[in-house]
Amino acid sequence: MRIAIVGGGVSGLIAARQLVRHHQVTIYEAGDRAGGHCHAHRFSQDGHEHAVELGFFSFYEPAYPHLTRLLKQLRIPTQRVDMSFHHQDAIHNVSCVASMAQPLMISPASLARREWRHWMITLPRLWRCLKRYGDRSRYMTYCLGDMLDEHRIPERFANLFVFQAIRFAYGLSRKQSMQMPVWFVFDLLERCDMLRLSRRRHWRRLTVGSDQYVERLVSPIQENLSLRTPVKEIRRSATGITIVCEDGTVSKFDHAVIATSAEQALRMLVAPSTAEQQVLGNIRYQTMNVWLHNDARIVQPVPARNISYYLRMQQSRMFGSADDDPFHMEIHFDVGHIMNTRQLDNTFVSCDPVSPPDEDEVIGRSSFRHAIIDVPAVKSQSRHSEISGADRIHYCGAYWGNGLHDSAISSGLAVARELDVLSLVPRLSRMC
Ligand SMILES: Cc1cc2nc3c(=O)[nH]c(=O)nc-3n(C[C@H](O)[C@H](O)[C@H](O)COP(=O)(O)OP(=O)(O)OC[C@H]3O[C@@H](n4cnc5c(N)ncnc54)[C@H](O)[C@@H]3O)c2cc1C
Repeated sequence: MRIAIVGGGVSGLIAARQLVRHHQVTIYEAGDRAGGHCHAHRFSQDGHEHAVELGFFSFYEPAYPHLTRLLKQLRIPTQRVDMSFHHQDAIHNVSCVASMAQPLMISPASLARREWRHWMITLPRLWRCLKRYGDRSRYMTYCLGDMLDEHRIPERFANLFVFQAIRFAYGLSRKQSMQMPVWFVFDLLERCDMLRLSRRRHWRRLTVGSDQYVERLVSPIQENLSLRTPVKEIRRSATGITIVCEDGTVSKFDHAVIATSAEQALRMLVAPSTAEQQVLGNIRYQTMNVWLHNDARIVQPVPARNISYYLRMQQSRMFGSADDDPFHMEIHFDVGHIMNTRQLDNTFVSCDPVSPPDEDEVIGRSSFRHAIIDVPAVKSQSRHSEISGADRIHYCGAYWGNGLHDSAISSGLAVARELDVLSLVPRLSRMC
């Protein structure tokens, strides 16, 4: 079959690698590089070459089975990441230091002893609540905000331990996080062993830049990949698919895989069905602005604490804020500490900072659109089979799963299986 894959992010590349074995595949990528949300920024500083990740960065092996297998297959080395955090809630004037490797290593930076004890009781209570509503089939639409209200989890506690964690994993604001289904949050935390006190493994990162990982992914399908080729329209008829690119090129295929975001998919589809409009339209997106810089002034790292991540919540000034949330959360990565090199001392990655870094201190920047996995989005996910494969158009992308890297890979594999089965049917019926 002739198959067009629109989008050269990880999900599209994975689908292409599988499909190219039995089909004629063309991958259309709008950007000048493949990889999408995998984005290593390469630069030289003081005579040394570095690659710092502005997008996909870390993973936890037990929760990332597809990625773990793939990295072994591609011979990409990985190494431990020190997941230590400095949480700060400037609104309630509290802060603490925590580590994902040892959850009880939470040390109060500005908590009174009494309040500290109260927190140590609240943490297991929160875990119990998450577990109680963790059953997807029973509590499909029960939101985090409702649970926190009903169980009277104190706002200052939720700010530090719930919303900042979600911000870290998904880049969502406090208001958006409240709309997430509890089972979804529970599932993520449990897969990552964050609801247990012992036998946790270490989070890992790619030792080489993610561009090398993408390069190896692309290597067997290099000839099938067209960079700088944004698709403008996808038309379908009873006999096939027509792809119209921005440059006016028109090509015909038997099937198309859309491996872009849902919002981009909807923009390209000519005459989308009602189901496509509902399913894709109910997945909302928001922009995340990421800066690589040397401006310690906006980070204010805690001296001599060896912290990897700074999570700060403060009054919103609307800079970089996607909605009218009065709370703004910013995240800063201490790159030198995370990558364990003195050569990158005083180098930071900041996501949606309240104030942008000084222009003279900026090394690189990027901007991403990412899915908000809230109740309407999970309802859309459960309707995937209604639109994928109907009328020769198939969908994949991380947004069909938990939005993280492993789900990009698993959805790419699933769509390739879907198409392989389809191509087998006529062959089998001819044999019968
Ligand atoms: C800042 C950031 C940090 C992240 N960090 C982590 C992390 O540490 N761990 C983790 O597990 N996950 C992380 N993720 C999530 C995960 O890595 C991504 O969700 C995953 O890589 C997405 O892959 P994808 O193929 O679904 O989509 P994308 O990577 O978005 O790929 C879509 C591709 O489609 C292309 N495209 C769009 N429109 C068109 C068009 N009209 N024509 C042709 N091509 C088009 C785009 O250019 C893009 O290359 C992060 C995400 C972001 C944004």
